[in-house]
Amino acid sequence: MIPISFNYKKASSVDEALSLMTDDAKILGGGHSLIPALKLRLNSVDTLIDISKIENIKGINDNAQSVTVGGGATHASIASNSALAKAAPMMAEAAHTIGDRQVRNMGTIGGSIAHADPAADWPAVLLASDANVVIKNKTGQREVDIDQFFTGFYETALADGEIITAIRIPKTAYNANSVYEKFKQPASRFAIVGIAAAAEMDGNVVKALRIGVTGLAEVAFRPMEVEKELIGKELTEANIDAALGTIANGVSVMGDHYASEKYRTHLAKVYTKRALLRLK
Ligand SMILES: Cc1cc2nc3c(=O)[nH]c(=O)nc-3n(C[C@H](O)[C@H](O)[C@H](O)COP(=O)(O)OP(=O)(O)OC[C@H]3O[C@@H](n4cnc5c(N)ncnc54)[C@H](O)[C@@H]3O)c2cc1C
Repeated sequence: MIPISFNYKKASSVDEALSLMTDDAKILGGGHSLIPALKLRLNSVDTLIDISKIENIKGINDNAQSVTVGGGATHASIASNSALAKAAPMMAEAAHTIGDRQVRNMGTIGGSIAHADPAADWPAVLLASDANVVIKNKTGQREVDIDQFFTGFYETALADGEIITAIRIPKTAYNANSVYEKFKQPASRFAIVGIAAAAEMDGNVVKALRIGVTGLAEVAFRPMEVEKELIGKELTEANIDAALGTIANGVSVMGDHYASEKYRTHLAKVYTKRALLRLK
């Protein structure tokens, strides 16, 4: 389908993009969620402000305490980044599973988390990593803890007109020991269920654990009862099975013609177990 007509402006800096922002304008990142939505007329917009050519939000910087991923970094650039592969291997694993080559080359991490599709991969990974989201607006800059970022079905803590300029991934022992497991929708490759898990181990025993779940509920979340249950324990099959009963506690599980609520909950347990058994 053809979208309703709109104006198009290309920004060469974040400040320029912010100055172009009006109530009826929208940011265009890689366009791999927004353009399909416009074509299907699920969304309409007066002006698109293209930020895809702003170089200083596309990079990935290896700092002392964190790796800073630009809001405009593509999935493909994250998949091939060596600093992230060491600091948070689940990032590269997840990036490789997103869509196809074209989607990975165009789509961005900032666009993905701003869109907050309940089946997207980054929300699970960033929740597991304890990331911070760096956001710019016309009056300055703020940082939002990832645990406060995803607020509902396609809803986030972003206010109208704000731009995600970076995501900080802390360099922690648990992020260095992290994995991503996903059961893909075979056509779109979105997650029916996606599980990111990051653990700091003290010998064979879990010292710190963060798990991010996507695809299961209307918003990505951390199953905190499962995390707590496994602290101080070995990641044996028996301990994991005993902890997984609470994985869907407190969330509204999604179901559709492809995967019912019961099947999705079952998959969440199977894929969380797979992820946890891979942690060292
Ligand atoms: C065929 C196909 C398969 C896909 N498979 C997967 C998959 O397996 N897993 C997965 O997770 N995703 C998948 N996607 C989605 C893909 O990852 C998108 O790239 C991503 O969701 C959106 O990023 P974008 O840069 O394209 O954002 P856009 O489509 O440009 O924008 C999406 C929304 O975010 C806003 N936005 C964009 N950038 C910013 C920013 N920096 N700051 C603030 N707001 C911003 C826009 O205004 C818009 O509201 C798929 C998409 C397609 C078309």
